[in-house]
Amino acid sequence: MSGIAGTLVGERAGPSQAGTSMRALMLVADRKIELRDIPAPPAPAAGEVQIRIKAIGLNHIDVWGWRGMAFAKRTLPLVVGVEAAGEIASVGPGVTSYRAGDRVVAYGALTCGVCKACRAGRDNLCENVASIMGFHVDGFARDLVNMPARLVVPIPANVSFRDAACAPVAFGTVQHMLFDNAKLEPGETILVQAGGSGIGTTAIKMAKAIGCTVITTVGDDEKAAKAKALGADHVINYRTARFESLVRKLTGKKGVDVAFEHVGPDTFNGSLLCLKRGGRLVTCGSTSGQSITMNLFQLYLQQDRIFGSFGCSLRNIGESLAKMASGLLPVIDTEVPLEEFERGLARLESRQVFGKIIVMF
Ligand SMILES: [Zn+2]
Repeated sequence: MSGIAGTLVGERAGPSQAGTSMRALMLVADRKIELRDIPAPPAPAAGEVQIRIKAIGLNHIDVWGWRGMAFAKRTLPLVVGVEAAGEIASVGPGVTSYRAGDRVVAYGALTCGVCKACRAGRDNLCENVASIMGFHVDGFARDLVNMPARLVVPIPANVSFRDAACAPVAFGTVQHMLFDNAKLEPGETILVQAGGSGIGTTAIKMAKAIGCTVITTVGDDEKAAKAKALGADHVINYRTARFESLVRKLTGKKGVDVAFEHVGPDTFNGSLLCLKRGGRLVTCGSTSGQSITMNLFQLYLQQDRIFGSFGCSLRNIGESLAKMASGLLPVIDTEVPLEEFERGLARLESRQVFGKIIVMF
């Protein structure tokens, strides 16, 4: 970038000045987030970039963090925001891959970058991962944040900040679940639980994009119509019908190849029952509770394969952004301003959403 455009971008996205303050959303107590002025970060150190945050994606992990989790090691107040997109404000010494004005998303787990898993590109299996930003340590809901340049991924030119803010967690998680873990193939049949959620809508779109048959569950008829409009082949209202028997019926008693889980105790055993022999269940969450009892005879006789999945790799974020650039865009439920972060969380917690909630700076 050069000339007038470069100058303008440089001025608008200028680096922090020593002693200046910035806005940050701080979790100060359980269910209490305040917009505060805090000191701006120093100039980025060697190998770091400074990002001016433009959009934050909300995920269930934000709800967990907001409600409070007794076992999570963290100290309040804490800057919230786990998933974000922004613009490079300045770069530290030695950073040549980015310059001021570049649009980026950031990987929100502070991985070591040197262990065997990191070197193999399996970032979410890092042996020395320090913390998840916005959950254990300060996150992205602030004007400026310094990050290691190696944890930053460029946004394609035709993808908005709003959409890109769904790449590091929602899209990346689903990309990793479906393609790295469950190894979903074109033509297969998949059951997507809670198809109206941020990751549910993403799973429906990604599976349809490679020509799968998608069966999904939702909690009301309005969401059923929206899921159908996204391309789901069969939509089941789990409040009025037993999805297990309907899936058997819809698949000619064979069952599905893949079950996409994140609901937990309410649906987990039912999802296993929906698998064909040798089928794959992949789960990245358990919003309805923590524990279940499982029929182990069924597990081995049916040769079920179960994958636990958490987060994604930097590669998955790049793959997600490439999908967005080619037109596979996130479903956005609501955009809210910074001041209404908690309203967004309450909406997410109430399960009234269809798609993602984005907080705009
Ligand atoms: Zn590592």
